[in-house]
Amino acid sequence: MIHEILPVGMLACNCSVLGDETTGDAVVIDPGDDIRHVQQILTKHNLRVKYIIATHAHIDHVGGIEKLKQTTGAAVLMHESDLALYQKLAVQAEWLGVPTPGVTDIDQFLNDGDSVHCGSLNLEILHTPGHSPGSVSLHLPGENERILCGDTLFQGSIGRTDLWGGSLDEILKSIRNRLLVFPDGTLVFPGHGPTTTIGEERRRNPFLQ
Ligand SMILES: [Zn+2]
Ligand SMILES: [Zn+2]
Repeated sequence: MIHEILPVGMLACNCSVLGDETTGDAVVIDPGDDIRHVQQILTKHNLRVKYIIATHAHIDHVGGIEKLKQTTGAAVLMHESDLALYQKLAVQAEWLGVPTPGVTDIDQFLNDGDSVHCGSLNLEILHTPGHSPGSVSLHLPGENERILCGDTLFQGSIGRTDLWGGSLDEILKSIRNRLLVFPDGTLVFPGHGPTTTIGEERRRNPFLQ
């Protein structure tokens, strides 16, 4: 399995490229910006994007989706509860003081318990609201077990809940009931900052004690 992580845009959102090196199929998660760099990685590994997935609809995670969809023809997937947020990309851009990126149609809404198959990769969708109503985490089971959790959980911290639709109560429930149930060794790839593990956050994260 190929897993490349590249920080994109001014807020350094961790965009992930997951690929099956045998079939050449790939999923791009949270292409917030720097689509040229994303494309260089796709070319380097000879990958073809099948799906573009947004862990949630904040501009730093979705700003480049329209551009990447145009050049790859890949299907765009996100949770329906963040659609309103996605459609307000112009307002989000204004807050950040950046030009408004293009907005595209969502091809498929993700639901809790869905599986997204791409070559030999299988991504299980966990609905983990709290940072935003439609925040999802992606779980890859098996020998490459890992979770891409967007802005829900960070190394030593949790996502902010003071933005539109956020809830501290919900984010703590999501982390406890949906993420901390995985084994200690499970790798966790947050939407910003360094990689961690479930065990590390269970033991040391001050928000979870
Ligand atoms: Zn966010
Ligand atoms: Zn973010």
